[in-house]
Amino acid sequence: MMRQYELVERVKAYDPEACETTLNRAYVYATQKHGSQKRASGDPYFSHPIEVAGILTNYKLDCDTIITALLHDTIEDTDATPEEITKLFGTNIMKLVDGVTKLTQIELKSADSKQAENFRKLLLAMSEDIRVLLVKLADRLHNMRTLHYITKPEKRVRIAAETLEIYAPLAERIGMHDIKEELEDLAFQHINPEARDSILARLEFLREKDDNVVSRIVSELKDVISRQGLKVDIYGREKRPYSIWQKMQRKNITFGELSDIMAFRVLVDDMPQCYEVLGYMHANYKVVPGRFKDYISTPKPNGYRSIHTTVLGPENHRIEVQIRTRHMHEVNENGVAAHWAYKQDTPTGQQKEGVQYRWLRDLLDILEHASEPEEFLEHTKLAMFQDQVFCFSPKGDVIALPARATPVDFAYMIHTHIGDTCVGAKVNGAMVPLRTVLNNGDQVEIVTSKAQTPNPTWERFVVTGKARARIRRFIRQQQEDQYKDLGKAILQKAFRQEGYDYSDKAIDGVLKIFKQPSVDALLTLVGAGHHTGREVVHAVFPGTKDKETARKVVPLEKVRARKHDHAIPIKGLIPGMAVHYAGCCHPLPGDRIVGIVTTGKGVTIHTIDCDTLETFTEQPERWLDVGWDNDGEPEHFIGRLGLTVGHEQGALSSITSVIAKNHGNITNLRFTNRTTDFFEMLIDIDVVDVKHLTNIIAALRATPVVNAVERARG
Ligand code: MN
Repeated sequence: MMRQYELVERVKAYDPEACETTLNRAYVYATQKHGSQKRASGDPYFSHPIEVAGILTNYKLDCDTIITALLHDTIEDTDATPEEITKLFGTNIMKLVDGVTKLTQIELKSADSKQAENFRKLLLAMSEDIRVLLVKLADRLHNMRTLHYITKPEKRVRIAAETLEIYAPLAERIGMHDIKEELEDLAFQHINPEARDSILARLEFLREKDDNVVSRIVSELKDVISRQGLKVDIYGREKRPYSIWQKMQRKNITFGELSDIMAFRVLVDDMPQCYEVLGYMHANYKVVPGRFKDYISTPKPNGYRSIHTTVLGPENHRIEVQIRTRHMHEVNENGVAAHWAYKQDTPTGQQKEGVQYRWLRDLLDILEHASEPEEFLEHTKLAMFQDQVFCFSPKGDVIALPARATPVDFAYMIHTHIGDTCVGAKVNGAMVPLRTVLNNGDQVEIVTSKAQTPNPTWERFVVTGKARARIRRFIRQQQEDQYKDLGKAILQKAFRQEGYDYSDKAIDGVLKIFKQPSVDALLTLVGAGHHTGREVVHAVFPGTKDKETARKVVPLEKVRARKHDHAIPIKGLIPGMAVHYAGCCHPLPGDRIVGIVTTGKGVTIHTIDCDTLETFTEQPERWLDVGWDNDGEPEHFIGRLGLTVGHEQGALSSITSVIAKNHGNITNLRFTNRTTDFFEMLIDIDVVDVKHLTNIIAALRATPVVNAVERARG
């Protein structure tokens, strides 16, 4: 275990200005807090955070990171409190420790490997500060190094598998190549020890058979290149057992068939030299086709840059050669952490090559423009995946959604049927409105009901294309069905008025005239107002045309006096559908109503005393006799009231409480006029029908502060 002074020395070696006092305080605090706790190895627990801190000093990370490493398990595993840590180490450190604790707390519950990628993204998204992730990776690395002490084999395998699926790829994602390799190799030992042993044995055998082959190849390559007057470093090595094994799996080949188990690295000073060296390689050795990759012109997403080529090299060995600059090499091996190292070594000039980190671009931008290193660290909030949010299903699956996604989006993401029938949602155990915006790590449970259908109002807040498409499709389908039903009702009525009986067969006979493929299609057109019922009747019975001329104008008084014997029953429907309610008079179930056919929009319902109707008196073909269909479940409608209220204290609250007592829900309230004595206002109230509204009006009239109440028109 690293001693206190050793750790401090290590940090001071690369950061002479490191805060020694705080480092010491953190070291002592961690030792005291973990006290007599023991690791599976029998070591005192506090050796773990100290080792984790030690690992991070290899990457020359800043003091805050090292302190965070020392404290990373105190919140989770000891009686340390956030308040105490804030008091002793400040809010910045506390934020970092909290970040690591949160990462530790979320756990991948699903073994499905499709989930792994989302889970990695969740970890990245939750690591607002990249240093949180660096500490977490070092934590995992130390746990993996000591995994053999864990006695239960299932537990070892589970942790090793998680390391392979989550943490090794994460390390690669942020460019920490050597951590990735070590994690993989350690995990491999526990997951498939037999495979690893046989690969190691085979490597040993090859080594004995052909002693010093690596160094012979290195010196020949060096010779070839230095003849051209270039100064380079060349390193040769066997590939790691795990990467050999992966290749065997991927290509489905045996070890005997695996030829390029040796990799050579050529390090040069600058980028043009990379291509020069490549030229010498290809001029001197036979190229293995299809193996050339230029990650310098097209870097990997994690910023990795190098040229790879495979040749039949010295002694006819098939070898992979990687060519890169020394700086590229450092970034390839240490990734994100390399930037801290450079920041420490050279304050300016070195950052240019690092800009390839797509998701680190913002961060580097700050690096280039920040005047102080502290300022840089202050702003190292990662913008990664900010356009995405990751939530858990009750089974523990991680669902990736766009930012601002709601439970409805979540439901559709899981299954179309769940989306279509969702009625409510629980987020982290509590019921929330369906429009609630989801956050990273939320656990979402969708409540469904067989009776539910997609709600058109959802379209206003969903953000996924899938949800939107389903909702729109449903609305369209509903609308078509309604147009069809409405069209049929209109035709039945038109037929009856002319003294005929309606039949589908009669309609079928005139489809050609209207150029429609089916009866349903024609009914839909009539319902949508593109053809009138009369037009269709005349097509079926051409002789009836004359009667129509007699009826030029609709006498409003007559309409108002008319009995609704043959009214077309309409239901309370959703706005935007085939039937909708006029905004001028807000008709309610129970009101006497009239329908006006609007071309392409279906039918607009007005109350029979609505002034707007006068506009249509000369277009009798657009009038439709309609009545309420009261069979359905109670629905909600907006009733609008105009109130005149005395200007006194508590007036508004007595009005609202009267409305609430009568089960009315105020959806909108607007003042229209205000004087010293009175104010006038318009109130929109959610009601079931006209009787409901009448009750509310009566109750309001009985309220002392209310001077006058009227249903508002227009
Ligand atoms: Mn730990």
